[in-house]
Amino acid sequence: MKKRAFFLDRDGVLNHSIAHRGRQRPPNKPDELRFIDGVGPAIRRLNRLGFYVFVVTNQGGVGLGYMSLSDLDQIHAKLVDHVQRSGGVIHQIKVCTHKPKADCECRKPKPGMLLELAAEYDLDLSESYMVGDRSIDIEAGKRAGTKTIFIGSEVEAPPDVDLVSPSLAQAVEVLFGFEKQS
Ligand SMILES: [Mg+2]
Ligand SMILES: [Zn+2]
Repeated sequence: MKKRAFFLDRDGVLNHSIAHRGRQRPPNKPDELRFIDGVGPAIRRLNRLGFYVFVVTNQGGVGLGYMSLSDLDQIHAKLVDHVQRSGGVIHQIKVCTHKPKADCECRKPKPGMLLELAAEYDLDLSESYMVGDRSIDIEAGKRAGTKTIFIGSEVEAPPDVDLVSPSLAQAVEVLFGFEKQS
């Protein structure tokens, strides 16, 4: 049987973005990383439900020179470790490091990263979920053929999203119920 997956956007879903000159930017250094509450247990829960968990993130700052690959690797090592402390597993992190205008096949809203993972892990995309806090995430999920979850408010949400939730942790509870304490 094909496996199901959760594809998670990173900034605004797993960690907080950083306010910068009236806009939001991703953390560029490991020290700037602040995790959103409940992501570790939510990912552990998804693992137990039989989902692969992947991170799919645009980090054009690498291509533009705001962030080094070594800082990006350290940020992701910290993320994996944080989730592991709650007993959760991130199976792979896919990053588009190309410049935003490079017109690559991986940068969301293109579905390239999701499609590559689907081929590598033999995933059933129609039973998988893309989770993100921007319309480009939702579009990437739709183009890949997944269900979609928007993290944010109803007002900001794209019209055709399957679920809107303030956090990954709450989305997992809405979809699968509260976890029984064992
Ligand atoms: Mg985001
Ligand atoms: Zn790319």
